[in-house]
Amino acid sequence: MSHVSVRQLLKNFDGKPPTVAVDHLDLEIEDGEFLVLLGPSGCGKTTTLRCLAGLEQPVGGTISLGDQVVFDADRGLNLTPDKRFIGMVFQSYALWPHMSVRKNIAYPLKSRKMTQELRGGRVEETAALVDCERLLDRLPAELSGGQQQRVALARGLVARPDLVLFDEPLSNLDARLRDQVRAELHDLHQRNPFTAVFVTHDQSEALALGTRMAIMNAGRIVQIGTPREVFEEPVDEYVAGFTGMSNRLSCEYVDGRWYALGTELIGAEPRAAAGTSEFVLRLRPEKVRLIGDASGLRAGEAGIAVNVDDVEFGGLHLDVMLSSTAPDSRRRELHARVSTYDRSRAPRTVERGDR
Ligand code: ATP
Repeated sequence: MSHVSVRQLLKNFDGKPPTVAVDHLDLEIEDGEFLVLLGPSGCGKTTTLRCLAGLEQPVGGTISLGDQVVFDADRGLNLTPDKRFIGMVFQSYALWPHMSVRKNIAYPLKSRKMTQELRGGRVEETAALVDCERLLDRLPAELSGGQQQRVALARGLVARPDLVLFDEPLSNLDARLRDQVRAELHDLHQRNPFTAVFVTHDQSEALALGTRMAIMNAGRIVQIGTPREVFEEPVDEYVAGFTGMSNRLSCEYVDGRWYALGTELIGAEPRAAAGTSEFVLRLRPEKVRLIGDASGLRAGEAGIAVNVDDVEFGGLHLDVMLSSTAPDSRRRELHARVSTYDRSRAPRTVERGDR
């Protein structure tokens, strides 16, 4: 049995027009899984999380945590947040400003009257887990953003709840700190697996943290799988675009061969259904290999002639915007991303205006 089970969850908001924020959503989460909900702004991630927490009243469906049904629309059952054994970590940290770090972390134990854990050193143990045991006597105002976020994390985990919910907890941190806390969170989950739902609109966060990730669109889950599955095998255009497959190549099947931009596709025939003569190939910018001229082609390869329209320096990579000079002369754009250091993929410095 799944640890968390969501069936046909439905949540509307009144308004003009009314919004279906969560649209008959089904979700099963196994014990110890770190599930990431990924999707653009407004797709229903936070509302789903809030329904799990009991902070929203859904209009349909069921939610079970372990063997406890916490919401059932048909039975008119909706347990309040305090009756659900859930930890929450918010974007805004939401620490009590007048309480010390120790008291903040201890709060879920106190409110649940978990006196044994309080006396048994659970607060100190959890603080040590997230590396903030030296901060226990400080007030939140005396902490940096990263330290506050660690305290919020400790508070979410201290009671060892059935489920920990994260609502974009890293988005207020600067880029370096975000990477650091993300790595620590990943390490923490690897060492002490807990069941989690983590909401983000940041693809790299989802790929790095999720044991599985679910891509949401308009209140529904359009794909769920391991980060590698979703990244490598997106089920549709929406997921492909969202996971960075930004190039679209129209391919045509003529006399038993596939062509794109006037060039025969050798060794990369699209997986089109039999009998199809047109196909749109999705291509990640990182998969485009740039060569100076035809002499750089390997045996059995064919190249597409392009102009370099623009080059953006991205530190570790160059983003190269290309347009095809295919014989039919319809201008079509491609995006290549090449490593700044990998000379085999960018044989020389690429410059705007190169061909
Ligand atoms: P973001 O990444 O911007 O937080 P999200 O994916 O978490 O977005 P939700 O906040 O769940 O999206 O919102 C889903 C939809 O429900 C949106 O269309 C939003 O405008 C609407 N919505 C959310 N909360 C309310 C509310 N309290 N009243 C009315 N509509 C709401």
